[in-house]
Amino acid sequence: MTTLIVGITGGIGSGKSAVTDRFAKLGIVVVDADIVARQVVEPGSEALTAIAEHFGNDVITPQGDLDRAELRKRVFSDESERLWLEQLTHPLIGLSITEQLRAAASPYSILSSPLLLETNQRDMVDTVVVVDVPETLQVERAARRDTNSEGQIRRIMAAQMPRQKRLELADTIIDNSGSLETLDAEVEKLHQQFLEQATKTA
Ligand code: ADP
Repeated sequence: MTTLIVGITGGIGSGKSAVTDRFAKLGIVVVDADIVARQVVEPGSEALTAIAEHFGNDVITPQGDLDRAELRKRVFSDESERLWLEQLTHPLIGLSITEQLRAAASPYSILSSPLLLETNQRDMVDTVVVVDVPETLQVERAARRDTNSEGQIRRIMAAQMPRQKRLELADTIIDNSGSLETLDAEVEKLHQQFLEQATKTA
């Protein structure tokens, strides 16, 4: 188990994946909360069986996967259904994240999550890194990546923590408004810092 766990968060399109890809290339174990959230409802999982029993087979695709769009529709308009789903999945996601971080064999490890600061995932990490870009750039990059409309991106942003609040909760801010080469250098610098920090706390 690593002694230092670094949390990485940021709004949609801020560059979380760009940042964590770089740490992963440096040999650091990255646990991605979005990936874990999909793993806990994989075909054959207890959670998927419970979801199918609760919502009916309409939320399961013919291939046996969770139909996320259908499930989103069901919970979007119904607060109690959303809570039911969260009470089922959140503890499983939390457990799996803890297990994966515990198994991490790198000098320090990373938990990457868009909801790090909104959930108790904050308590799983020792320090918080926020990836930040101005909102116009966030919309531009996210729209280019996802082919979502600017309106859709702005709606997602409105549901996330406001930029200013997120920045206030950061221990470290990565300014990703520059080039990817600038980002390489920034990640390399932080990597050295975390290695040092990990040695001190070991
Ligand atoms: P997030 O994971 O936070 O949603 P991504 O890492 O996927 O964001 O970045 C959003 C998009 O912007 C991606 O297509 C990514 O390749 C691109 N991108 C990220 N950082 C930069 C940068 N510094 N310069 C140019 N493009 C970038």
